[in-house]
Amino acid sequence: HAVNNHDNCCTDLEPLPMEQWYMNMKEIAAKVRPVLVRQNIQYAPDRFRHYAIEWLDQIRDWALSRQIWWGHRIPAWYCTHCSADGLSTVGNLDWEQALREGNFRVSVAAGAKPVVSVAKPDACPECGGQDWVQDPDVLDTWFSSALWPFATLGWPQRSDALEYFYPTDLMITARDILYLWVLRMAMTSLEFVEQIPFKTVLVHPTILTQDGRRMSKSLGTGLNPLDLVARYGADATRYCLLAQAGAVQDVRFDAAVENNQVQASASAEAGRNFGNKLWNATRFVLMNIDGYEPGPCERSELADRWIWSRLQVAVREMTEAMQSYRFSDLTRAIYDFVWRDYCDWYLELAKVRLQGGDPQARRVAQEHLVRVLETALRLLHPIMPFITETLWQALPHGSSANSIMVADWPKCDDELIDPEAEAQMQCLQEVVTGVRIIRGEMNVPPGRKIEVLISAVSDEAEQTLRQAIPYISLLTRAESVQVGQGLVQPPASGSAMTAAAEIFVPLEGLIDLDAERQRLKREIQKMDGLLKGLDAKLANDRFLTKAPPEIVAQERQRQAEYRATQEKLSASLKLVEA
Ligand SMILES: [Zn+2]
Ligand SMILES: [Zn+2]
Repeated sequence: HAVNNHDNCCTDLEPLPMEQWYMNMKEIAAKVRPVLVRQNIQYAPDRFRHYAIEWLDQIRDWALSRQIWWGHRIPAWYCTHCSADGLSTVGNLDWEQALREGNFRVSVAAGAKPVVSVAKPDACPECGGQDWVQDPDVLDTWFSSALWPFATLGWPQRSDALEYFYPTDLMITARDILYLWVLRMAMTSLEFVEQIPFKTVLVHPTILTQDGRRMSKSLGTGLNPLDLVARYGADATRYCLLAQAGAVQDVRFDAAVENNQVQASASAEAGRNFGNKLWNATRFVLMNIDGYEPGPCERSELADRWIWSRLQVAVREMTEAMQSYRFSDLTRAIYDFVWRDYCDWYLELAKVRLQGGDPQARRVAQEHLVRVLETALRLLHPIMPFITETLWQALPHGSSANSIMVADWPKCDDELIDPEAEAQMQCLQEVVTGVRIIRGEMNVPPGRKIEVLISAVSDEAEQTLRQAIPYISLLTRAESVQVGQGLVQPPASGSAMTAAAEIFVPLEGLIDLDAERQRLKREIQKMDGLLKGLDAKLANDRFLTKAPPEIVAQERQRQAEYRATQEKLSASLKLVEA
């Protein structure tokens, strides 16, 4: 038969059948099962709890003994007199010395009679002798690890540490040691401490390479997180890892890695961009709060009611996500709030009052800018600890805590959730977005002031939009905004539809209509050419059968995009030809 070699020294290796200790797991497993069924130990995600129950139901004996030097020794003893036939030395060692040093093998089949005891037994029950040797084998490392929850806290003494820290709240682990380690900790804990070791088991995803391979140093696919930290910062690294910790257990990490070196990671870069956005937003606030003193917080203005409502929703979502360990939802909620609601809209809306001449209105805007940002920083702190601490210290945060680390986690105030303000803001946002699209499609120079006509579909919409005129003019760079109902589209104007209104932007005098017509015609011609080529390619059987499916799909995608662009260009041309 084939003989294997040790890969270090090439010595022949042959199997040596030896007797092993096994542990009957039925009884100890039965203690854990009801705990899982009743969810006294919870799992996130919960499906792993069901897998655990299945594993317990099919439990087999555990091969417990190892022939290695270090470890907890098997608590079994042999009388050297009565077990002599079952004890044999290794090699040509001196018998007495071999026994003393544990250099012997045990065979119950050959006559060894184990006495199981933690401490050395007294007299041998058979011969009355007192010459005992302990079994030379040690326990499987996982057996010792299974004692970890209480053995590290002074057990078997009822130490203060054990009283205080046991059971712990959260056990965080990868899924490959859920049975090997986690369930066995539960078993030994229920056996020896008669109490669960932890309340929740969080099974975190495993990070794989871009193409779904294992990360491994020897394969050159390994990634040192500290390289990511050096390149993108610790906050960005934390952010991007948490953003990917969703329901999927195998995360394909987007970093390009060569020879264990990180080349680039789009997700870490997104984390860094988010940090920059937050930094700039805070700097903007700090530059605009000269003379500000914390004071009462009145919320009558639409923008203020809206941002506080959005903030409460974010607090609620994040608290729920945090409690159920949905970290990707956690990061998405704060990202959307900070980037979209606060930076993209609220900061812009606040400029009306910051730059206006009313000192009282300015103070109110400052109050909201500071308070909302301060709350957002506390929400973001567990995800991006460093930047949030720095920015929080720079803000007049009004907290008695001297670090954001010990500041309270924000609470959701249901009173501030304001569906009316959210609906009105949405109406405003859609109109502003509509005007911006017209500006873009009609190639209106960004600095150019425009005229905006808004034809509302209802009295309610008209009223909302009328009140929002200062915001709309600021956000769309309009010198005049007219709101009404049943307005007629002026000739040569761009238009857009929203749920609440139709929007017109007269283009006469705003752009050179002749030049714009020429430009649009040229663009349409270019698209025609591109589409002609693509259409022919996608009608060609040879291409369709020979090309890889993803290339064909890509070309179809391009075709659809060109066609959509062409339609937009034609619509724009129609407008300037009117
Ligand atoms: Zn060797
Ligand atoms: Zn004996």
